[in-house]
Amino acid sequence: MNTPPLDTHTGAITLDDGELPAILFNKVEKRFGDHVVLHDLDFTVRKGDRVTLIGPSGSGKTTILRLVMTLEEANEGYILIDGKPLTHYEKDGKRVELKEKHKNEMRKRIGMVFQQFNLFPNMTVIENIIEAPVHVLGLSKKDAIERGRALLEKVGLPDKENAHPTQLSGGQQQRVAIARALAMEPEILLLDEVTSALDPEVVGEVLNILRDIARDTDVTMLIVTHEMQFARDVSNRVLMFDSGRIVEEGTPEQIFSDPQEQRTRDFLSAVL
Ligand code: ADP
Repeated sequence: MNTPPLDTHTGAITLDDGELPAILFNKVEKRFGDHVVLHDLDFTVRKGDRVTLIGPSGSGKTTILRLVMTLEEANEGYILIDGKPLTHYEKDGKRVELKEKHKNEMRKRIGMVFQQFNLFPNMTVIENIIEAPVHVLGLSKKDAIERGRALLEKVGLPDKENAHPTQLSGGQQQRVAIARALAMEPEILLLDEVTSALDPEVVGEVLNILRDIARDTDVTMLIVTHEMQFARDVSNRVLMFDSGRIVEEGTPEQIFSDPQEQRTRDFLSAVL
């Protein structure tokens, strides 16, 4: 789609129907050295959307999540979150860098769960969960613990708050990582191949928790996964990537049952 006009004072954007887009990529290019991994990428995610990114390894999916999380920065173009620029925007062809305070405010709205859990190994489960709510959101320790306990209940680990990550299985660690991301009450949840490092027998329990979150909340989700059934169940849109470009997009039904592009058909026949 064409990107709607930008407010040149604030860099903000409103969609045709007056809504602010949850995530908007405007002509984003990302390079690592000479290697262009995302080409002139435009896409919009509406609030409450569950968008799954599929495509072969190396097609740029994880880089997209890392850009949203501000773990990487675009070389060209820019990203809006809730209609506002995430780190910078462009005015009269020039890059306008936003202040660190603004970037930190934007980061608070986004949670990410990684393939490798990334829990703090020297902290207990509850300490992992309350760390950011206390230090970033300024919640009292008491309130953060209360929130953390409710989340541990939700992910099925109410008796593990004092355990250390090394005492937990991979599936349990990933459930803690999900609780930790949700403890920030993010508007956007990024899920980066969250079951790829797990033993097959615990994949289902982690996916079921994510299905519950999708059902019970209106959090916007951007998902990278090889679990096609999960993508089908949870997402309302699927974007198929190849070599840093969107080759096809549609509903899960369209993409999985009636793909139009040969590259999508080849990819799906290799993974299904
Ligand atoms: P996907 O998630 O689709 O497998 P990635 O976004 O991880 O793809 O990677 C896209 C391309 O960018 C790959 O060719 C990868 O090797 C390259 N890449 C990713 N991160 C880096 C990095 N930090 N340094 C150099 N190249 C990178």
